[in-house]
Amino acid sequence: MGHLDDDVAAYVDGQLPESAALAARRHLEVCEPCRWAVAQQEALKERMRQAGGPAVPHTLMASLAQLPDARIEHEPWSSRLRRSRTARVSVGVLGSCVALLAVAFALGAPDDGVDEVSPPFEAYVAAFAGASATPVLATGSPIDDVQAERLTAEGWPCHHTLAGDLRREHGSQDASTVALSYGNGTHRLDLYEQQGALSEAAVRGFTRTTVAGSPVWMSAGRPTILTWDADGLVYTVVTDAGTDRIGRTLAELPTPVATDDPSVPERVGDGFARMAGWLSDAA
Ligand SMILES: [Zn+2]
Repeated sequence: MGHLDDDVAAYVDGQLPESAALAARRHLEVCEPCRWAVAQQEALKERMRQAGGPAVPHTLMASLAQLPDARIEHEPWSSRLRRSRTARVSVGVLGSCVALLAVAFALGAPDDGVDEVSPPFEAYVAAFAGASATPVLATGSPIDDVQAERLTAEGWPCHHTLAGDLRREHGSQDASTVALSYGNGTHRLDLYEQQGALSEAAVRGFTRTTVAGSPVWMSAGRPTILTWDADGLVYTVVTDAGTDRIGRTLAELPTPVATDDPSVPERVGDGFARMAGWLSDAA
């Protein structure tokens, strides 16, 4: 059979007819891009599952657990997550290729609800300068147009162009990172996307700034580095493009909401409502 393509989601959900599922498993044993697509689909499902239940600070959990009538399982959120993750990974160990995926996914599985990511900025800059290929470009699998479209649909933006005239020239992916290189003949812009949340320690030495209305971390220079996280992915841009193209690029990618945004109190309210929903589930 050919690539799984549109059957990836059905395969992950166990919705394929038995014969098709068997063919898919055989194909996955020999096809790295499809294995990756399945792993990403699993990760997406996990992200959506987690979005339904935000991490609750342990101190808040503890004080809620002390309420006289609150029937809350007094167990840290992280170990609840870990337990459910273990269960899911065991379920995944059904075939050798699926087992491989489960291992790959477990490696990238968060410890505390969300992975803390420290982007390897130095390697990114070295790659930008042409001094070396980043590991993901050296060992990952190439992203073609079909793959780019699928990744974009799955929440990993792989746009054809950015800022109007920066065209996607290269794309590559490994188990945890999508790496894309854009250019217009004069300027270049490398974009990296990693699952998780940006580590605070990673951006020491960076400046907090607002670009296209969104708060991001920036290290200005040649090249300029910008990094931020949004919707469960950490984005890093390494570029020699000017502020106009950088601003347009960020406007075309998911970015965090500015803290002085009037919609923030609503979001907090949403978060609390979802947490309350989760608490009643747990009771
Ligand atoms: Zn394939």
